Amino acid sequence: MLSIRNIDTFYGNIQALHNVSIEIAEGEIITLIGANGAGKTTTLMSVCGVVPPRTGEILFRNQPIHHLSPDKIVPLGICQVPEGRLIFPYMTVMENLDMGAYLRKDKNGIKHDLEYIFDLFPILAQRKTQAGGTLSGGEQQMLAMSRALMARPKLLLLDEPSLGLAPLIIKQIFEIIEKINAENNTTVFLVEQNANQALKVAHRGYVMENGHISLTDSAENLMKNEDVRRAYLGL
Ligand code: ATP
Repeated sequence: MLSIRNIDTFYGNIQALHNVSIEIAEGEIITLIGANGAGKTTTLMSVCGVVPPRTGEILFRNQPIHHLSPDKIVPLGICQVPEGRLIFPYMTVMENLDMGAYLRKDKNGIKHDLEYIFDLFPILAQRKTQAGGTLSGGEQQMLAMSRALMARPKLLLLDEPSLGLAPLIIKQIFEIIEKINAENNTTVFLVEQNANQALKVAHRGYVMENGHISLTDSAENLMKNEDVRRAYLGL
């Protein structure tokens, strides 16, 4: 579904990604784990066109997208939930969700998806008229994910969904990620520092170090890998 091929991405003169290649098949949950500053967010930014790669290729369903701007990439079905959520704080929960569906015209589909989201996150149904900025961190993460789901993405890019959340909420968020993947066949590209949780839900994973992919394997094997256990799982 997504093929990142040998990309190099820069911020000015600083090279953040070095020859990064990642393959994601339809229906997979793929995680990219790594330390602070490894280049995980930059990888997502390259996919969604915010920081395009200088060299290499990115193909979505065989179509090159590395030269497209974000407004051309989103309608293809790629949606990102950024680190820090970035919901609209002065808009209500309902208005935030409406923004997620702004490219859609299918009223019945939107209604159906709203019901699905309120089923996934009943707390959001109770908070429909509350300003997004007054929600708790966990609720904001739920809203950010829901806003992305309202666009009916084929590929969902999640950047550190567990960041700053309490363990119980993290567990809930990861259960929902699995559910979205299983029920809607939404492909998920999950960037996480919480390698433990990420590898539990992912099918396969990539490890990133200093802008390079250093290792890739099934999530199961990565969890057993001694280097991964020591560096990322604290074992
Ligand atoms: P974290 O988990 O802390 O978010 P990360 O793995 O997502 O880290 P990136 O945010 O992709 O890492 O950063 C990769 C490298 O690119 C870092 O060295 C960072 O300092 C640099 N970088 C990120 N954003 C910019 C920017 N806007 N300008 C210059 N350098 C940047």
